[in-house]
Amino acid sequence: MELLHQLVMLYTSGAAAIAAAWPWFWPLVGGMFGAVLGSFLNCARYRVPRGLSLRHPPSHCPSCQTVLGVPDLVPILSFLALRGRCRHCGVTIGTASLWLEVACAMLGAALVAVAQAGLR
Ligand SMILES: [Zn+2]
Repeated sequence: MELLHQLVMLYTSGAAAIAAAWPWFWPLVGGMFGAVLGSFLNCARYRVPRGLSLRHPPSHCPSCQTVLGVPDLVPILSFLALRGRCRHCGVTIGTASLWLEVACAMLGAALVAVAQAGLR
């Protein structure tokens, strides 16, 4: 139990040291988690109403059915890099996906920033 306590104290003091040195670091991490959550919500809002599984098939273009590779799955950045189009068939991807990811990223960053400010 004492070892666990020491590990928790080491972790929290390390996290606090990072926050002191780079105040933007943890909000950035929160924003990245938020963007990933937004990406999952995009998947869910497409698949659930259609009765499709959330796990299978893996993420794919609904137009050409090509399974997306890792570079195509980075939230927000993939959309911007591909200018909102499928890399394979060029079909336009709706901007609602982008805005949901951006909103979730901003919410994640804001929540972490508020929590971080409350801990000081
Ligand atoms: Zn496609």
